[in-house]
Amino acid sequence: MRSDVTIIGGGPAGLATALSLESLGLSVTVLERAPQAALAEPAFDGREIALTHHSVSLLRDAGAWARIPSVGISPLREARVETGRHNHPLTFDTNGQGVEALGYLVSNHLIRRALYEEAVSRPGIVLRAGVATRRVRDDGDGVTVLAEGGDVMSRLAIAADGRFSEIRRLQGIGAIVHDFHRSMLVCRMAHESPHHHVATQWFDDGQTIALLPVNGGASSLVLTLPPDRIEVLRTMERERFNEEIMARVGNRLGAMRLVSSRHVYPLRAVYAHRFTARRFALIGDAAVGMHPITAHGFNLGLKGQGILAQEIAAGMARDGDPGSAAVLRRFSMRHRLTTAPLFAATNGIATLYTRDESPFRYLRRAGLRAADSLAPFKAAVTNMLIDRGKTA
Ligand SMILES: Cc1cc2nc3c(=O)[nH]c(=O)nc-3n(C[C@H](O)[C@H](O)[C@H](O)COP(=O)(O)OP(=O)(O)OC[C@H]3O[C@@H](n4cnc5c(N)ncnc54)[C@H](O)[C@@H]3O)c2cc1C
Repeated sequence: MRSDVTIIGGGPAGLATALSLESLGLSVTVLERAPQAALAEPAFDGREIALTHHSVSLLRDAGAWARIPSVGISPLREARVETGRHNHPLTFDTNGQGVEALGYLVSNHLIRRALYEEAVSRPGIVLRAGVATRRVRDDGDGVTVLAEGGDVMSRLAIAADGRFSEIRRLQGIGAIVHDFHRSMLVCRMAHESPHHHVATQWFDDGQTIALLPVNGGASSLVLTLPPDRIEVLRTMERERFNEEIMARVGNRLGAMRLVSSRHVYPLRAVYAHRFTARRFALIGDAAVGMHPITAHGFNLGLKGQGILAQEIAAGMARDGDPGSAAVLRRFSMRHRLTTAPLFAATNGIATLYTRDESPFRYLRRAGLRAADSLAPFKAAVTNMLIDRGKTA
């Protein structure tokens, strides 16, 4: 089998890349390990993805945004960051920004479903699900992806197989892995008092909690603790779980009740040593797997595939080759410039807010107070949250 580009991994980054490249007139094969049913009707996985304005416009251009039901899109009007009992909140809002929301929260499974529906409607995309990919072979002027049920020959192979990418490893590309020794529990909680579309991130000694406003009188609970304590909470009987969460949240939203399944993610951030090899590129979490605290992961994945599509379009205009060394060199340089500072800053913030030794406690209290009084800092963060679409 032949196609211009082969993408390994049909997650949100892989599918978004397939749509962008098909729009350039390229034929694309997507190989996904999970079965077709899991792609067509992905199950709720607890993740509520905070999308920037730029990401929304990329999803709109890709044809996926219109496929997300409006009830599944929750505007984020304000974000508050607090430190436990020493309460001096740092607030970010849309005042003076000329937009109705800082960003939009959408469940990951709805994003995946919308991208899948759009991908299967495109004549230039072949999606093979339930396929195990063995490896990628460099053939000089092309590349072959060796896969169950038939190999695929292309001019470029792209791995979008997630942060613990097996294909990245098989290509001999190492990665920086930052283990925070914490896990994150995510689930939906219905509550008595309205959230007014305000997100609250709350750093207390020993725990980090975020409450993200979703539609239907509910919030997404995002709780970070050491893995053994998270496991106790994941399996705890529902009534006890509700009581435990209300105690941790401190009665901010009245009575709370678990209304979804509970999901746990170990917190490990990953940054690939290289984003490319000959006729090969990494995209999405396979290139940069962020700590979720700053909500950049998928936003950066979308940005990365946008940069790659721009460089491939330029390469096609130059010499008709979507996988040339020049295309990959420029993509790699631009994606590194876009992601490296955010990766370092996010890891710094995550470390500051998950360590309980006294210098870290003092720094976070002092930090929030100082940050709230610094108008340029707040404006810069608000602009970063809104992100109207500047790329490196
Ligand atoms: C709790 C949590 C909250 C988050 N919140 C946000 C947020 O607010 N904003 C934000 O921007 N990001 C957020 N993220 C990050 C976001 O979820 C990820 O960046 C995004 O899902 C990555 O997509 P991906 O397609 O790169 O990888 P994945 O979603 O991991 O998809 C990889 C795909 O590849 C397939 N695959 C794996 N191996 C193979 C193989 N060998 N062959 C074929 N297929 C394979 C898998 O089955 C899967 O379908 C959050 C993450 C977590 C955990």
